[in-house]
Amino acid sequence: MIEAPYPELDELLTMIGEAGQRMSDIDATEGAAGNISVYMGWPVEPRRRFPLVETIDLPVPMPEFSGRAFLVTGSGRRLREIIQDTAANLGFVVINDDGRTAQLYTSPRRLFARLTSEFNSHLAVHRSAITASGTNFHAIIHAQPPYLTYLSHIPAYRDETYLNRHLLRWEPESIVQLPEGVGHVPFHVPGSPEQMLDTVEAMKRHKVIIWAKHGVVARSDLSVKRAADYIEYAETAARYEYMDLVNQGQGEGLTPEEIRAICRAFNIQQSIF
Ligand SMILES: [Zn+2]
Repeated sequence: MIEAPYPELDELLTMIGEAGQRMSDIDATEGAAGNISVYMGWPVEPRRRFPLVETIDLPVPMPEFSGRAFLVTGSGRRLREIIQDTAANLGFVVINDDGRTAQLYTSPRRLFARLTSEFNSHLAVHRSAITASGTNFHAIIHAQPPYLTYLSHIPAYRDETYLNRHLLRWEPESIVQLPEGVGHVPFHVPGSPEQMLDTVEAMKRHKVIIWAKHGVVARSDLSVKRAADYIEYAETAARYEYMDLVNQGQGEGLTPEEIRAICRAFNIQQSIF
């Protein structure tokens, strides 16, 4: 939830660009991998930045969301290049009253033909989170950080308890930032209905989830950069875990007692350790 005064459209565009740049800085968005979307629950006028308009079909019917507005990355766009021309890389979507179509506002410099192919998962997670909490802001980032993704290729890390007890033991920040742990979604074909449904369920319980053998998804109802932070915290943890795997498990890690002491000191509720 964001308090008034709400951010201007240009501020949101810049923050999306900065989040995309950060995903690139941590090697989580090779080529055109990854996508970002943002829900804005207050009146925003798109047409100064996005004067062209067309009608598109929604991948998920959202009749209860008529009139709601989203910023979404274009298919094939590079997250690291959004910041160079934010309007050219993003579409501004307003859902029509029929709930099956939307108005897509775009820039004359538009660099994409369609919105991201993962728009179905984005919309379904937005709907779930907005309905559950009533938030007026919600950001989602999909990225492909290599250490988290590599761990999802090792069968033991597909168990959420095993995954989180191993991930969240390398830095005090980990349990503070991700007290509900990192969620795990089994491999599904990218963009498929199965991926969408599993993602919605996992993101009810987690701020960041792994798409097995693919990448991660993070969400925040505070800012798009906060969602990027969650990916960075989880990826740093996975990098430590990977280092320990290749170093024959010589690292001690924070012990469960040490992690519980951190949680007491910072008043963190968690059930992992
Ligand atoms: Zn992907």
